Amino acid sequence: MNYDLNNMTPRDIEKLIEFLQTILGNTLESKNTISKVVKQESENIECPYCHCNDCIIKSGYTKNKIQRYLCKTCRKKFISTTNTLCYRTKLSFGDWQLFFECMADCLSIRKTAAKIHKNKNTVFAMRLKVLQALSTFRNKVKLSGEIQADEFSMPINFKGMKQSNMPRYSKKRKSASKKVNHKVCVLGAIDENDNQYLEIVGNGEITSKEIEESLGSKIEAGNMLITDCRSAYESFAKNHNLKLEQIKSKTYKNENGYTLSEINGLHSNFFGFISHFKGVSTKHLQGYIDWFVYKKYIDYAIEVINHPKEMLYYTIKQKSNITIKDIYNADFPFDIDIAYADYH
Ligand SMILES: [Zn+2]
Repeated sequence: MNYDLNNMTPRDIEKLIEFLQTILGNTLESKNTISKVVKQESENIECPYCHCNDCIIKSGYTKNKIQRYLCKTCRKKFISTTNTLCYRTKLSFGDWQLFFECMADCLSIRKTAAKIHKNKNTVFAMRLKVLQALSTFRNKVKLSGEIQADEFSMPINFKGMKQSNMPRYSKKRKSASKKVNHKVCVLGAIDENDNQYLEIVGNGEITSKEIEESLGSKIEAGNMLITDCRSAYESFAKNHNLKLEQIKSKTYKNENGYTLSEINGLHSNFFGFISHFKGVSTKHLQGYIDWFVYKKYIDYAIEVINHPKEMLYYTIKQKSNITIKDIYNADFPFDIDIAYADYH
């Protein structure tokens, strides 16, 4: 087919578009498209096993004509999608495109399954793989300047857990379900440049050790931390040489005019987001938190129409080697037997 691109009639252009659409359709379903896309989107090819990146040579093709590589350091062979969310799935690039359109609309697993013509288990696995890939976004966050931090708690959710594995409820303890230990504790922080961070730190009341483990590597000395009057934040601020402004409970502003309004706003936005989903197991809650924070970022930075593509191209190249088995054997983010010790 020969086209002089600068000298085409509308009819020629329509024919060309039709032709390109046929090619696009074939490409979306072709077995080696995903590996080509991942290669194109990745800055450099890295060994998924030993992370070496200057020791990779090409090493033939798979039966689906996918480029294979050899790592000269660890002698292992791999392809560009090894340990990414598309590894060892039968899904096509077109399936993933449709899936991300559903993610951008926050559709339920059931509605997504109907829209992309896959079964619910497949869609559930796709979602959890994507959520794991989004955790890389949280790992990269750094906070600076004036940083508001505060925690919230949510009831522990056992969705999907076998009845026989659930903590046994003792009828003698009527107030047991109100116990603070039976809640997930999520620490949130937001800085003056709107960088946002939310992470499950444990269950029950927050401790200075949990704050350290969560925020310790996120904030450099010399920045300012704004919190409530919990002493756990005082020791954290002291250890990291942070200026500390604290706001007494039931007051809005402290004497220097600082508030926690931004972080409280973030928390309430999160409650709005999570209420879309009819109960999320605590095992998978961090994934949904990561989705929320990533969504806030693209809502701010990217035009709505491009959200599915942005999410697709960000996640497709991240290492996300969670398997179906991992999904069903996922652990709680804290020791559930200790959280419910008062039940035994
Ligand atoms: Zn290697």
